[in-house]
Formats: sequence, C-alpha cells, structure tokens
Amino acid sequence: MLHVAVVGSGPSGVYTAQTLLEHARDPGPPRGEDVRVDVLDRLPCPYGLVRYGVAPDHEKIKSLQNNLRTVLDDPHVRFLGGVEVGPAGVSPAKLLEWYDAVVYCVGAAADRRLGVPGEDLPGSRSATEFVSWYSAHPDAADDGFVRDARSAVVLGAGNVAVDVARILARGADELRPTDMPQAALDALAHSGVRDVHMVGRRGPSQAKFTTKELRELDTLADAEVVVDPAELALDPACADPGSLPAPNRRNVEVLKEWAERPREGRAARRIHLRFFLRPVELLDRGGRLGAVRFERTAPDGAGGVRGTGQFEDIQAELALRSVGYRGVPLRGLPFDAESGTVPHEAGRVLRAGRVSPGEYVAGWIKRGPTGVIGTNRPCAKETVNSLLADVRSRPLGGGARTRDPLDGLRSLGVRPVEWTGWESIERAEADLGASLGRGPVKIPDWEGLFAAADKAEGR
Ligand code: NAP
Repeated sequence: MLHVAVVGSGPSGVYTAQTLLEHARDPGPPRGEDVRVDVLDRLPCPYGLVRYGVAPDHEKIKSLQNNLRTVLDDPHVRFLGGVEVGPAGVSPAKLLEWYDAVVYCVGAAADRRLGVPGEDLPGSRSATEFVSWYSAHPDAADDGFVRDARSAVVLGAGNVAVDVARILARGADELRPTDMPQAALDALAHSGVRDVHMVGRRGPSQAKFTTKELRELDTLADAEVVVDPAELALDPACADPGSLPAPNRRNVEVLKEWAERPREGRAARRIHLRFFLRPVELLDRGGRLGAVRFERTAPDGAGGVRGTGQFEDIQAELALRSVGYRGVPLRGLPFDAESGTVPHEAGRVLRAGRVSPGEYVAGWIKRGPTGVIGTNRPCAKETVNSLLADVRSRPLGGGARTRDPLDGLRSLGVRPVEWTGWESIERAEADLGASLGRGPVKIPDWEGLFAAADKAEGR
C-alpha cells in the first residue's frame, strides 16, 4: 500500500489528493485501492485559502468547497486537522518515517513588505491580516482596522487589493448574508470609512486585477467608483488598447468607460482607482498613520516605471498593503528566501541541489503566489506524476510500515481533528448563525473551533 501525507488542505493539497487517487487508478501499481492519503492541516478546518482567503461575498467561488469536500470525504482519504508540521508539532523527518511520500502544499502564508519608512505605524496593516480578520482565521487579531478611520489607502493593484477595497466599501446589508464573523460584521457596519483609494505603482494597462473583479466594484449598493481621466491619459496604452493582451485591454476599456461618465456624487462611499503612484513613505500624525506619500511615476518604455520627482500625499488613517503573498520557511525543509519557495524539480524537493526521495511540493510553496485556484490542478498533476513515476521505478521511503501514523501522532501528544470533528464545527457554525438570525457564521477562535470539534469526538 502506498501511504501519502499531504500537508495542507487548501486547493493545492486537495487537488494533489484527488490527482493521486485518479492517477493511482491507472493500470500498473499502485492501484486505487492501494493508495491512502492523509491530508494534514494546522487548522482544525479544511480548505485553506478557500475558507480563509476567498472573500466572504464571493459565494460562487466559496461553493468550490463542495468539490473539495467530495475528495476529503473519499474513503481513501483521511483529514487530520489541528496537526502542525514544524518545530511545535511533527517534523518533516518524522513524516518521512511514517509515510511513503509527503507532499507539502502549505501555500504562502506571509505578506511581502513594501520596504518604505512608516510601514509599521499603527494604522498600516497588511491586506493578509485584514483578510484573515474578516475571514475568521483563528490567528487573526481584532485590531480595530476601521476604528476612527475615514479614509483608507489600499496599496497594490491585484485581486487581493480589489477584494479588500470592496469589503471596505460594502454596506452591512450586503455583508450580513455572508459567513463573516459577527465581530467583523459589527465593526464594518459601524465603519466611518468613506473614501477608499486603491493605488497602483504602474499604469492601468499593467494592473494585475482581472476584469470580472474590477467590474464588481461598480455593483456595490452604496459606493461610487471614481477614475480620473487625466491619470488614464498618462498611460500611452490607454490611447490604443487594441494592441494590448485581451485581459489588460478589457481592464482599460472598463476604466475608460468609468472615467468618461459623469460623477453622481450621491453614494455614501467612494472607491478611487489611482495609478502611476509609488508609495515612498507612510506618514506619522500624532503617533499613527495620517497619510501615505507617493511619488508620481511614468512609463519607462520597457514595461516598468521611473520616478518623476513629483510627490502626492493621500490622507488615510488606514493603509492596507496588498503587494503580494510570500512563502514562509518550514523548519526541516529547504527554502529559497529569494523566491519564497521550496526548491524543486517537477515537484520533487531538492536538498542541496539533489532530489530528496519521498518529498514533494505543490501549489504556491512550489511556484510562488500567483494564479487562480484552478492553476493548482496542473501544478498538482505535475507533482503527482513525479511521485507516481518514482513509486513505479523504485520503492520510496524506508521500507515496510505497519504502524498507523495516527498512533505516531498520538504518541507525540497530538490529537487530530478528524472529518467527524470538522462536520461538528460546520454544525456549530450553522447553529451560531441561526442564533444571530443569519446563515452559517464562522467561529473565529481556536477554543471555539476545538470545542465544537470535541463534541463529535467525545472529548
Ligand atoms: P498580485 O496579483 O501579484 O498583485 C500584487 C500587486 O502589488 C501588483 O499590483 C504589484 O504591482 C503591487 N506591488 C508589488 N510590490 C509593490 C511595491 N513595492 N509597491 C507598490 N506596489 C507593489 O498579488 P495579489 O493581489 O496578492 O494576488 C495573489 C494571487 O491571488 C493572484 O494570482 C490573484 O489573481 C489571486 N487572487 C484571485 C482572486 C480572485 O480570483 N477573485 C482574489 C484574490 C486573489 P506591479 O504589478 O507593479 O508589481
């Protein structure tokens, strides 16, 4: 029997488990019935960024959980939540003793830094922290993100920037039907933020957001999108969008349409889309953020920008830095600090340039934090192809394993949350929502999650 551990139950982990089952059913060993996959997660809840990263108002993308569920519910797959791999839990070396192969699908949990003065002022936060808070991640702190803020700056022009700008600009009535935790909903319902400035350092034709997400900004109940035609005119590509790749062209067409229409000025909140402004400093006003200083940039003719020596301050009591995620090193695994990924060859982990037998990676920790959820399918496929080719050409790992890794975990004092525990959390979230007159509402803290899981596991 081939027994594989997948570390991480986000899309890349679940697609890896799914692909292992599908491909193992091909002729030749191992066959489907010979494959067992344990999907380990630090959290007692599965689905990774689908649960803790996809915005709560994106119900359609969130419903992808139903597809992921069928994989984790497969009799050949076992979900083991609440299991930390690393110094505080089980080591990669131990996993290699227990399993024939280990696939790390741990994503990119940290955020990139701006590297400018004032970045750590109170009021300046990473978008990752804000997303974790409104997604009820149990590590998130309620740091009063929107308290006393009237103007917010979102730094970056990717889809995460669009997500956080949209959540800041939505009204409580739009957020209440989501599974957002009650404390975040209450805070956003009382938010005084009226202006949200989303600012890209390059031009509109180079923004990273996708057109569907951009358009959605114009559908909010009580927010108006503001685009300055003069700023679009700074981008030569805006005069001739026909020559741009289709995704960029569509973005430019939407932005031009918005820039040309008359302002209504009636909405409670405004989303300002700004371009060619590079953040150079976050300014202190009485011990906390008061404004963000930008240098005006101009196209350098090679896809980048250069500074112009002109500066503009945008007043803001809240800045959300949304300049990309970053992988974090996992002790016991090699790590390339430059790219924030684990060095690999077609998914096989490389230690000092050589393939480390039995160790694999997939997802963002393999290729960096880019692409949509579906990008993880081909990524997982490549890794699983490598793994199965290795299994078919030589035995993996250290020989016969008779012990159930679950016993090994218990011997380390780890009591994993199994699938029934997760189902119990789901029921508790439905009950919590019902008590608040809402649909299911996420439990935001470790104690609450483990208490709900324990109900199923009789602890
Ligand atoms: P991203 O798409 O890489 O965007 C990062 C943004 O930060 C870019 O606009 C980048 O500008 C800017 N940036 C980087 N360094 C900067 C600096 N020092 N100063 C100012 N700006 C800087 O990253 P993301 O938004 O975190 O998204 C990560 C991935 O998740 C993406 O593939 C995204 O599509 C995906 N995602 C998808 C959805 C969805 O489908 N609804 C939602 C959320 C996330 P430059 O282009 O100039 O580098």
